Amino acid sequence: MVTRSNNSTVFNQSPPFADINLFTNDRLLLEAVSANGATSEVEALSAFGARWGSARMLEQARIANENPPKLRAFDANGNRCDVVEYHPAYHFFMAESIREGLQASTWLSDGTAAAAPAEAVRAARYVMVAQVENGHMCPITMTRAAVPALAAEPDLFAQVMPKIASRTYDPTFRPWWEKAGITVGMGMTEKQGGTDVRANTTTAVPADEGYRLDGHKWFMSAPMCDAFLVLAQAPGGLTCFWLPRFTPDGQVNGLHFQRLKDKLGNRSNASTEVELSDAYAIRIGDEGRGIQAIMRMVQLTRLDCAISSAGMMRMALAQAVHHCRYRTAFQKRLIDQPLMRTVLADMALELEGALAAVMRLCSAFDRSALSELDAVRTRLLTPAVKYAVCKTAPAFAYEAMECLGGNGYVEEGMLARLYREAPVNAIWEGSGNVVCLDVLRVFARNKDGARAVINDVAREAADCSGAAEAASAVVRILSDPTGESDLRLAVELLARLAATAALNQSAPGGIADLYARSRLGGQRGATFGAAQLANNEVTTLLDRTLAPT
Ligand SMILES: Cc1cc2nc3c(=O)[nH]c(=O)nc-3n(C[C@H](O)[C@H](O)[C@H](O)COP(=O)(O)OP(=O)(O)OC[C@H]3O[C@@H](n4cnc5c(N)ncnc54)[C@H](O)[C@@H]3O)c2cc1C
Repeated sequence: MVTRSNNSTVFNQSPPFADINLFTNDRLLLEAVSANGATSEVEALSAFGARWGSARMLEQARIANENPPKLRAFDANGNRCDVVEYHPAYHFFMAESIREGLQASTWLSDGTAAAAPAEAVRAARYVMVAQVENGHMCPITMTRAAVPALAAEPDLFAQVMPKIASRTYDPTFRPWWEKAGITVGMGMTEKQGGTDVRANTTTAVPADEGYRLDGHKWFMSAPMCDAFLVLAQAPGGLTCFWLPRFTPDGQVNGLHFQRLKDKLGNRSNASTEVELSDAYAIRIGDEGRGIQAIMRMVQLTRLDCAISSAGMMRMALAQAVHHCRYRTAFQKRLIDQPLMRTVLADMALELEGALAAVMRLCSAFDRSALSELDAVRTRLLTPAVKYAVCKTAPAFAYEAMECLGGNGYVEEGMLARLYREAPVNAIWEGSGNVVCLDVLRVFARNKDGARAVINDVAREAADCSGAAEAASAVVRILSDPTGESDLRLAVELLARLAATAALNQSAPGGIADLYARSRLGGQRGATFGAAQLANNEVTTLLDRTLAPT
């Protein structure tokens, strides 16, 4: 591409990666959608992919992240207002995602799960959204994940579910019952304990046909949500509550935002520190059962973390391949340089596994109401896949950034933002060790069920190098009462076994074994490109990754 700048001719730069159909251009996603029962949705997903891959969307994403939200704690006269103002670009994305139902499409109006392949279809959309703008997906994810937790309180649920399911984004600051559509956030983390929520000190005292909460939350994202599911210490122990922004008489509730977090990434989204002062709340479930109630939500937010990271990996790799197809160094395009080809192909193989594992997991969610094996599969593999995919994404984004050389490090491009965004999915909703311990907990509580899932995954991965050995190692470590120190190894192996199994179903012959050969056994270095791939394998992987643009 040749263009003129003020005083020189610009050449040997890649054209913008924009106006790309994020679905039809993504063979891996197409295959995963078909393999997981969503072929009937291909047309709708293609339209979605065209819209979300447009230059306009990408530009709005840049603007939303360059104009972070602002806290207005007080008005000009010193009265508290406790509102956070977002840039119109953020509202634009909220309206887009809610119109497409990403906050509720997996639920029927009574809160029961929509029929298959609702989860897989939503995940395919989310993979595309994550390639463009992730910050606004925080409230979208929390809203859809709140539904199973809220179902524990049928009267409240009957009132709020139609508002959650609404396809209208209503950003006005009004009581939730007056609004056309609402979003729901989550408040668990306090200063003295995030993972260890039993250390929560916020108190809840019965009053006014509800409870009154006093205390704080150290991280509470998407503060303009209409209500939050929070944990607090009630007389009967740690309990889950519905904490609305307005009290039943229409007054602003006692949530006082102290400041916004100054974050590495996730800039379009606000995360607050909040003091709770005599804040009205409604109990969700029994007193003392707060962790059980909110874990129904966390299971789904963890799934979304993995989907989001797979999406970001896709965009990072697409940008890298695109650039390398246009950029020449030493009289040869980067995409034709053997060493660069191996780097890109190894990343492509990683993406193959991540995307296949995530989509197959969503399909298990789709079937979990009808199949006990799939229900246990979702419970065992959600933390494992979250662990492996979210932990890989930051290193993956970094490597993609380096493929663009200096351009990758500069904010005008997208790689810098993806790189800053990627770690949050590994940290929130259960950091690495915590989700590993969750895998161990699931195994310990239901050994027969968990073993059945691992056997099933191993069967699906049969014929692939190292699959049987990996399954044995996972069971051995998880069965060992002293095995906690080897837990990361077991969880990574389990996730990679699941990815191999998923690829065996969705990708053409050879890809699953290629993945297994370098990820379950064999020789592979710690960086991308340090895998042993034959030339023809490299070519296959690169051809699959991105159609010429
Ligand atoms: C941008 C952002 C937004 C957030 N938004 C929200 C929100 O909206 N609502 C909300 O409730 N929270 C939110 N959080 C908080 C987030 O969920 C927590 O930060 C996270 O769960 C970790 O908790 P912590 O910070 O207290 O760390 P800790 O719990 O202290 O953990 C620190 C480290 O110790 C490890 N660890 C913990 N226990 C063990 C163990 N038993 N064995 C070995 N290792 C262990 C963890 O894996 C982690 O690596 C947000 C965080 C971020 C960064």
